[in-house]
Amino acid sequence: MIIKNASIILEDKTIKKGWLEIENKKILSINEGETNLEGIDLKGSFLLPGFIDCHVHGGYGVDFESGTIEAYHKFANLVTKEGITTYVQGSVTNSKENNIKYMSAFKKFMKNQDLKSAKCLGIHLEGPFISPAKKGAHELALLEPPNIKTLKELIELSDDNIRIITYAPDLQDGGFTRYLIEHNILPSAGHTNTSVQDFLKDYKLGVRHLTHLFNGMSGVSQQEPGLTTAGLYFDDILCEVITDSIHIQPDTLRLIYKIKGPKGMCIITDAMNAKGLPDGEYKLGNLPVIKEGMKVFLKENKALAGAGATYDHNVRVMLKEIPNLSLNNLIYMTSINIAKQLNIFDKTGNIEVGKFADLTVLNNEYQVEKTFVNGELVYEK
Ligand SMILES: [Zn+2]
Repeated sequence: MIIKNASIILEDKTIKKGWLEIENKKILSINEGETNLEGIDLKGSFLLPGFIDCHVHGGYGVDFESGTIEAYHKFANLVTKEGITTYVQGSVTNSKENNIKYMSAFKKFMKNQDLKSAKCLGIHLEGPFISPAKKGAHELALLEPPNIKTLKELIELSDDNIRIITYAPDLQDGGFTRYLIEHNILPSAGHTNTSVQDFLKDYKLGVRHLTHLFNGMSGVSQQEPGLTTAGLYFDDILCEVITDSIHIQPDTLRLIYKIKGPKGMCIITDAMNAKGLPDGEYKLGNLPVIKEGMKVFLKENKALAGAGATYDHNVRVMLKEIPNLSLNNLIYMTSINIAKQLNIFDKTGNIEVGKFADLTVLNNEYQVEKTFVNGELVYEK
């Protein structure tokens, strides 16, 4: 297959007018100029590596906690309209019964993924190993300090499909961190009140990922430097950032970008089930919530109740709010950094010969026009 007349976004340059050749799901050649070969004509639109969301809880009416295979397929299919080609499916703190239901449906889904959808890499387990002090919307009674016994049970239930775990590093002595690293699960510090000094023990063990920087963690106070301080300070920590301009105001986004640069952060949605649906009343678990634009809040007290923005919206916020942000730098934050972090960069994450043709097409207003997964057109506006 040929994709032509594209403005191809690579790490170090843009091919203003070029074309791609795709064979057996993969990129066979990247070419400058025009071609007479038959193919999909992008009419000058931008061609980017497909977006990767490593932190999402649902959308389009799908709440991952529902534990149904149909819901997982529906999400994988509909999320392609955001330019998403790969994602990691969130799982929040659950009762044992719900974990069993969730995981048994999930492992069947993983074995039977739809070829016309975004690719799911596995689970991002966000809880129960988090701190009561920064629990957010998680249920207090179900939290546990990080422990290998429960972890083993969850890994087994999931059929070894857990890829990322958010946990409070200050509530364990380093053994839990070591176990995750030895079992190829990405340790992500988050939902914690840890100090920088306490976090250093886990940093030294190899923790290089933070869950939604600034949100649900200790901050940058001059007297009590917390996890946010560590995330900003260490160049080799990759920080997830919810760039919806609601969870983090634009001035703070600019500060994060100034310190971390494009290689130190990855854009996430952290979105809940009302993402992608019209404004109105929905539910988060049992709680009534209101969706208004990209914002979702509790009906009762107007407190933020998860995120409601789509991935492409969060991309547009970055392009609008960060002065002179190039698409060449943007793709580090949408695809390259997280692909490296999840050890899939040999297969996907950029536009390179030999990689899977996971691609997103944006028009000049940065709206998603088309999405390709493994070289198949899976979404068209
Ligand atoms: Zn989350």
